[in-house]
Amino acid sequence: MSNIIKVLKGTKDILPQDIEMWHFLEKKAEQVFSKYGFKEIRTPIIEVTELFSRGVGDTTDIVNKEMYTFEKSDRSITLRPENTAGVVRSFIENGMSRLSAPVKLWYHGPMFRYERPQAGRQRQFHQVGVEMFGIEQATADAEVILAAVNYLKALGLHDLDVEINSLGCPKCREEFKTNLKQVLKPYFDELCEDCQKRYEKNPLRLLDCKVESCKKIFEKPEVQEVIKSDFICDECSEHYTELKLYLQKMGVKFSENKLLVRGLDYYNRTVFEIKSNNLGSQNAVAGGGRYDSLVEQLGGEHTPAVGFAMGMERLISLLPTKEPKKLDAYVVSTFQTDAFLMAEELRHQGLNVEFDLTNKKFSKQLEKASKVAKYAIILGEDEILNHQVSIKNLEQGKQITVDRANCVKMMSL
Ligand code: ATP
Ligand code: MG
Repeated sequence: MSNIIKVLKGTKDILPQDIEMWHFLEKKAEQVFSKYGFKEIRTPIIEVTELFSRGVGDTTDIVNKEMYTFEKSDRSITLRPENTAGVVRSFIENGMSRLSAPVKLWYHGPMFRYERPQAGRQRQFHQVGVEMFGIEQATADAEVILAAVNYLKALGLHDLDVEINSLGCPKCREEFKTNLKQVLKPYFDELCEDCQKRYEKNPLRLLDCKVESCKKIFEKPEVQEVIKSDFICDECSEHYTELKLYLQKMGVKFSENKLLVRGLDYYNRTVFEIKSNNLGSQNAVAGGGRYDSLVEQLGGEHTPAVGFAMGMERLISLLPTKEPKKLDAYVVSTFQTDAFLMAEELRHQGLNVEFDLTNKKFSKQLEKASKVAKYAIILGEDEILNHQVSIKNLEQGKQITVDRANCVKMMSL
């Protein structure tokens, strides 16, 4: 066993005993997001690298440190680290801007980031998310947040915290950036290496830093004063106020967090995160916001947009595990051809059925049936001669003998 090949670090098999949870998350996503008019989209897992360097932003950790990139036929290709850029590419390429707004899309699937694996953090993980294109008004932001909250509720997750903030627009943000840089200047040497880089390239993201010594600096009164200042312009402020009003009217509880800036370059105005207290340090289950300039940045027409992504592994870790589904029936018979025919007949009638392919002893077959199925369909000599079957309810232990033609009907009683 010394030369067995193991799964790559930071990746995991999703085994049959765990698949129920994944189907549950996917089915609920389809149900809830459809209610809001979102349609599913599936884009490729590989894209040209430029999509992410231009789309996600080459000052972000994702692009700088976390991408899986390789060359093939002189092209640089990347395994998608997130799906907004891919969905935007598809929106532009397939002329979706010609459709009447809003265009509402949802997706789920694997994402890849070269990060340090730990609880709640993998190198291949899965996201479910939505993107809404074409609407500038805060109704869109509110509807997207509401869809996220109602999806989480449909999964059975009620006590999560919704945090929101407004980053303003590129114009009104400029002054804030200048003020932030100024107040942090005396502490520059004490900032972590990443923050020292961010200082010039993207000072807003300093606030996203998780390093304790940086967080302490941001708690200083003069820094807090800048962080808490209302820097956003009248239009952005009105948009933010409207969003808060809609959320209140829709019964969504939220708190405002001025430190919430999100790790990506493309956001403007609304940003939000949904957090759980039961997840330890990787406590964010969802992150999203408005990205009005991304479509244009990737070569499309100006199109306002808003969306979010949720980490499916983190959702699963918050939910009680589901028992693997049992077969509807297991055919028990030492007359193998009859068992085979019976199993196939029941499958044609829509049931999930197995029988013993190796023709073991009757008692062994029954033992197996009670482990894997809800019903044993027993075909002894008498049953076969009389065109009958015996149905044993394996949960309750009751057994009845009925005409073969009535088998499925009697099982559902
Ligand atoms: P974090 O701060 O946890 O690194 P992020 O801001 O990088 O999150 P986003 O890019 O906003 O995450 O992705 C949205 C969601 O996807 C996160 O809230 C989280 O639930 C999940 N997620 C992100 N990275 C990972 C990962 N490496 N492993 C598992 N889930 C992840
Ligand atoms: Mg991250």
